[in-house]
Amino acid sequence: MALGVEAASGICSARECTNAAIYRIDWRNPAIHHARTKTWLACEEHRSYLEGYFTYRSFPFEVSAFVAPDQEQHQDH
Ligand SMILES: [Zn+2]
Repeated sequence: MALGVEAASGICSARECTNAAIYRIDWRNPAIHHARTKTWLACEEHRSYLEGYFTYRSFPFEVSAFVAPDQEQHQDH
């Protein structure tokens, strides 16, 4: 499965969060008929926040454990 840029980064998708993700959330917008499933990533801190985001909008989503494609370290600068 191809992941988006955000998912490939291995970093939480919450705004301004730079924590390493440990959950992935596969979701789609049912209002867009041909919308592809998108993947956001979440750290422990933001999992409930992002779940609330989709729950509020009645978007179907599925949370599973995120396994990074590699263990490459991302340096902070
Ligand atoms: Zn986060």
